[in-house]
Amino acid sequence: MTKRDAILNGIARAAELHHKLGFREQLKDGSRPMDIFAAIEALRIMVLFRPLDGLLGVYVPTPNSAGMLVTTQRDHHVQRFTAAHELGHHVLQHRTVSLDISVGYVGRGEKTGYDEQELEADSFAGEFMLPKWLIVAHARRQGWGVVELRRSEVVYQLSLRLAASYQATCYALASANLLTQREAGALAAKAPKESKQRTMYDVVPSSWRQDVWLLSDRDKGAQLLGSPEDFVVLNLEEHLASGYEWDIEPVPSTDFEVRKDDRAEPVDASLGGTVSRRVVVQGRAAPGRTTLRLEERRPWEGSDSALNSMEFKLALLGKEPVGLLRAERLMAA
Ligand SMILES: [Zn+2]
Repeated sequence: MTKRDAILNGIARAAELHHKLGFREQLKDGSRPMDIFAAIEALRIMVLFRPLDGLLGVYVPTPNSAGMLVTTQRDHHVQRFTAAHELGHHVLQHRTVSLDISVGYVGRGEKTGYDEQELEADSFAGEFMLPKWLIVAHARRQGWGVVELRRSEVVYQLSLRLAASYQATCYALASANLLTQREAGALAAKAPKESKQRTMYDVVPSSWRQDVWLLSDRDKGAQLLGSPEDFVVLNLEEHLASGYEWDIEPVPSTDFEVRKDDRAEPVDASLGGTVSRRVVVQGRAAPGRTTLRLEERRPWEGSDSALNSMEFKLALLGKEPVGLLRAERLMAA
């Protein structure tokens, strides 16, 4: 098998599995990331999370079943991609135990000295997690075209919605021919911290490790997979002159802390009296799922007279802890 065959084979098997599991249909509205752990469960592969020493993952084929180990020492993005790589070994019927020190070929196939099975599994993982149709579905929902996708803060927001690392997302855009390899390389070299700082200029976090989600009404109904202390920035248009305001009281205080709540001065009163309201909330430390529902309404009226509303499903679960797979599948939510 040539290098090219290995790459094409990995891609083909990933596309077949999407089809077999009905994922393309389920995810076509761009509201959720790929559900890798649902795929692993559907194929009845045992998965265990362990603090692996110097390894990201291990695939163990056995005659009657198969199992994989995934590290607990990296974040959920790396865990998800590693699990997809190990799933690749399984789907591609690799018969030997694979001990994976690294997964994901930079720019797919550019790593020097390749191993055929590893290249195949990486190619599978890249296509399974970040296929072009899923990237396009998310970009379409957000209104991002090829011009926007050249901006690091846009790619960073895309990566959050795809529950993938920022760098993996940069290279996936190149694989999907939405960026050139060179553009992807230049974007990948930028630190996500810059994007976070640009989005959240008015709150200083204790560290910039946490992710910063910038949500708008294009994310209505979305299911977002993040980490316990992530920040959520909401820029809301508010029809204050007509008495409407966003009610942020329902932001559950057990799950979130409001870090900022500001209104900008109306620029022009002729714009129907709308003002920009900016709300920054941070998840509390405990991993959990929560639904964030906000309504724009007159404070003295009920929900049924709301002018606008937004609801997001947030699974701020972070990485999988030691043990069996947490019941974290988005589709069960
Ligand atoms: Zn491998």
